[in-house]
Amino acid sequence: MTASCLSHLECSRCSMTYETSLEKHLCSCGAPLLARYDMKKLARLKKETLNARAPSLWRYREFLPIISDDNIITLGEPITPIISMQEIGLRLGMKNLWIKDEGILPTGTFKCRGATVGVSKAKELGVETLIMPTNGNAGAAWAVYSARAGINAYVVMPEDAPAITRNECYVAGAYLYLVHGLISDAGKIVNRAVESHGWYDASTLKEPYRIEGKKTMIMEILEQLNWDVPDVIVYPTGGGVGIIGIYKGLCELKEIGWINKKMPRLVSVQSTGCAPIVKAWQEGKMESEPWQHATTIAFGINVPKALGDFLILDAIYKTNGCAIAIEDHEILKAQASLAKYEGIYVCPEGAATLAATISLLEQSWLLPNEKVVLLNTGTGLIYPDTVHVRVTTLKPEEDVPG
Ligand SMILES: *Cc1c(COP(=O)(O)O)cnc(C)c1O
Ligand SMILES: [Zn+2]
Repeated sequence: MTASCLSHLECSRCSMTYETSLEKHLCSCGAPLLARYDMKKLARLKKETLNARAPSLWRYREFLPIISDDNIITLGEPITPIISMQEIGLRLGMKNLWIKDEGILPTGTFKCRGATVGVSKAKELGVETLIMPTNGNAGAAWAVYSARAGINAYVVMPEDAPAITRNECYVAGAYLYLVHGLISDAGKIVNRAVESHGWYDASTLKEPYRIEGKKTMIMEILEQLNWDVPDVIVYPTGGGVGIIGIYKGLCELKEIGWINKKMPRLVSVQSTGCAPIVKAWQEGKMESEPWQHATTIAFGINVPKALGDFLILDAIYKTNGCAIAIEDHEILKAQASLAKYEGIYVCPEGAATLAATISLLEQSWLLPNEKVVLLNTGTGLIYPDTVHVRVTTLKPEEDVPG
């Protein structure tokens, strides 16, 4: 007996279906595959059943693709807090402003959600060696979960990716390689390695299960808000797994009747230094074009071309959301505000969501009385170099100036 209601894989573009017992990556048409569930079986589950369960994303077991509990690789992922932003809310005239803080997850970012589910499924499929390109955070998360699963992990990241993520891969015994280039260049190296060695390709959206971990963000948010669906969710978008997962989760919950109100408007935030989704959305397109000379301090969203761009754009269009680009200096300002006024030290990607909210409020795209949830995707602690500290050094006999 298994709790999982997993039924099959379905192509996100051509709807071709595949069975789940074998390792599967992209559809034969080249598009990402999505995990599908037996919705009748899922619909028999009652929301209230959740109340008695342990506070971890594994409480949504039925909505997740792991068949046997023995294969679950977990580091005790906690339910992350959803924090009311009182002071910043007051300053902006917003009464219902929240931030979900993913920074307390085991490796300090929400990448743990994808990794705990993705690595568990890889273990269930009998994978011995996996490989992935990363901007750092996904590599760190997959390295530690793979270590726990006894799976060999090869990680290829840009040489200027955050140093801490590099250290984490290394100490966890991953085979770490750096590339003089962007995540897209790392991706090309990974493609060739998959081709020649037959390793499990864990690249963003090239395995169907990482999304499933990330969709638990919306399930937690809704549970924490007593199933009162927020008006707007603001999300920093790179490869898009998070926003695609949030939208997928919303659709599943709607289908089984756990929510019935309208969908929240999903906002995709990027940096002006790398904004392919924003450009595509502004032009009303269904796909993005590769961004040239991508650069931003928000490393996790420095993705010039996302494989699932059409799914990100679809989520935005279907929910009447929008996409917005933020200057890096605005990101730093928002990071400082969040720490100073709310005591939350966020990563630049998370800070971008506050800068976006301020901008959307000014444009009246957002109204002051709307319930808005920002996603802070990671802790500021993993990017120590983002903050420039001006500080006076005292000699032991010197006094603190009054
Ligand atoms: C990966 C990452 C993102 C972007 O997430 P996607 O799901 O790839 O869009 C945002 N913030 C941080 C901190 C990340 O590591
Ligand atoms: Zn297809």
